[in-house]
Amino acid sequence: MRHFCIDFKGNEDLLRLQKKIASHPPDQILIQVFCGTSDQEKITLLLSKLTEFFPGTAIIGASSAGEIINAQVTKHSIVISISLFNHTKVKTSLVDQNDDLKAAGLTMGTALEKSSPKAVIAFGCGLKNGNFLNDLPFLKALSKKLGRIPLAGGQAGGYDEQNSTVYVFTEKGFTTEGFVAASLSGPKLCIYTAYDLGWVPIGKKMTVTHSKNSRLYSIDDKPANEIYRYYLGIESDPSSLYLANNFPLMVTRGNKGDIRTTNPIAAVNRDGSFELMQKLHTGEQVQFSFYDVSLLEESALKLKQYIKASDPGVTFVYTCISRKELFGDDINIDMDALKSCNHSAGFFTFGEYYTTQDQEPNFFQQTMTILALSESDSCNTNIRHKELDNSSRSEKDLKRFQLQKVLSHLVASTTRELKAANQVLAEQANKDGLTGLFNRRLFDTTMLAKIKEHSRAGADISLILIDIDYFKQFNDIYGHVAGDDCLRAVGHAIQEALNRPSDMAFRYGGEEFGCILSFTGQEGALTVAQNIRANVDELAIPHEGSDVNDFLTISIGVLTVNASRNIKPQEVVTACDELLYKAKNGGRNITVGMRIN
Ligand code: GH3
Ligand code: MG
Ligand code: MG
Repeated sequence: MRHFCIDFKGNEDLLRLQKKIASHPPDQILIQVFCGTSDQEKITLLLSKLTEFFPGTAIIGASSAGEIINAQVTKHSIVISISLFNHTKVKTSLVDQNDDLKAAGLTMGTALEKSSPKAVIAFGCGLKNGNFLNDLPFLKALSKKLGRIPLAGGQAGGYDEQNSTVYVFTEKGFTTEGFVAASLSGPKLCIYTAYDLGWVPIGKKMTVTHSKNSRLYSIDDKPANEIYRYYLGIESDPSSLYLANNFPLMVTRGNKGDIRTTNPIAAVNRDGSFELMQKLHTGEQVQFSFYDVSLLEESALKLKQYIKASDPGVTFVYTCISRKELFGDDINIDMDALKSCNHSAGFFTFGEYYTTQDQEPNFFQQTMTILALSESDSCNTNIRHKELDNSSRSEKDLKRFQLQKVLSHLVASTTRELKAANQVLAEQANKDGLTGLFNRRLFDTTMLAKIKEHSRAGADISLILIDIDYFKQFNDIYGHVAGDDCLRAVGHAIQEALNRPSDMAFRYGGEEFGCILSFTGQEGALTVAQNIRANVDELAIPHEGSDVNDFLTISIGVLTVNASRNIKPQEVVTACDELLYKAKNGGRNITVGMRIN
């Protein structure tokens, strides 16, 4: 294949190109146009010129937020990339709606599937009434129609993220609310795709507590902007969005939980909520992230190694506008990687499409995606990537990488330490200090949760309440220290009588204990009660003050309920307490059980 790429200035450029490609079959040419303007007149004029100069040729294009031509970043330019294939056929399609993204994907898929594409490049208008669309439903529908083939491309860009109109077009016309795509078909097409995120999570995991559409209201029950102020010291008002977007919220998704995406803030609302580029779901876990320069270098190296090994005819790059805005000079790391390919072209998007052969489609933000194409009888798919060694880095960069590593290590280690400390505290908060059993606090919350769970399942749950007999006398005779020892021993005896992992023993108060037995009927619960009594008997703690025995004894109430009858936890406890009272009145050292249906 051959490739030409120009920074379009006027008709002479088109004339020159026309001559170069004159003898080439038009259906084996792909023209991509990356248009650094939102001026509709200019775009219409350009389109009519292109169709006039290159009749019958497949053209796809998009307005852009920065253009790339042969590893150089340009601004407000019009980059025309022409790929001349020897064996590959090209076909375009335009869908002029993005109200129903799934339907758009299916329509596009139906239009392209006849050509049995091996890869598709698609551009979409992701900006609608000042809001950003999440094009994933489009990509999924398209991918479902076409099978698991590489999908590349992204959302059209614009220089004013809030107000500009975005355009996508083919040789047949343009739309400001829709999608265009070009399919590439033919047995000799070799495709290499890569994406470079370069962002790594940092700090603790937080939970999205209120989110609607692309608007994020709160994280960990605090307003979204408060989170940035509190943890990063960033006032995320419109003027410092730039800084906040250096630390975008990262979420991990995908079937295998291995797809990380970052989610930059598009705008901050008056109430402190954010307009995000992509919807986050309430309940989803997020972390701050930052871009790791050494990761950028690593993926750049991989790309270089691929290009060296496979010598692709052209490398297309669809990369996020926010990389250009945030990376400063580091954008050159991205661009340097492209330099090893003779031809590269692309643009800065509002969101990237990325799908490989064996993956679900992804819609990314803040990534650089790569589609390298060549034609060959045998495609070189197995590239062995060598690791980056530090000697190839400049001393200044090396220092920077090391500092970044140390700081993120510090954050990671302190976060880990705090997490562990919090876990210990959380456990302690649920435990009784004297016996080590769970405490009354957890008893109440557990009862509430368990009754709900069992009522949904229509299952039996049992509660055992245990009270030591004549314990006041025990304290009076043997003293409080011995009394405490006794409570510990009885607590242990109760715990030992429980067999299932779901059985839980509590110190309910003073010398009273409780057991919650999930999915346990009356018979099972009485067996457990019997075992508890046997264990306490075995302790054989002398109790001279007891009227029922020479040794310490307990009285037990056992209540089994079928939770499907919508009973309240407090009713269960009261009813069980009555059984315990009956045991006391019945002479102590006995068990009284009952089942309520
Ligand atoms: P009954 O057989 O009717 O249950 O009589 P009882 O004496 O066990 O019942 P009562 O409720 O009158 O007394 C409970 C006693 O348990 C009161 C207190 O001396 C003792 N007690 C409660 N909590 C603790 C504790 O943490 N340590 C010690 N040593 N004793 C406690
Ligand atoms: Mg008592
Ligand atoms: Mg007692």
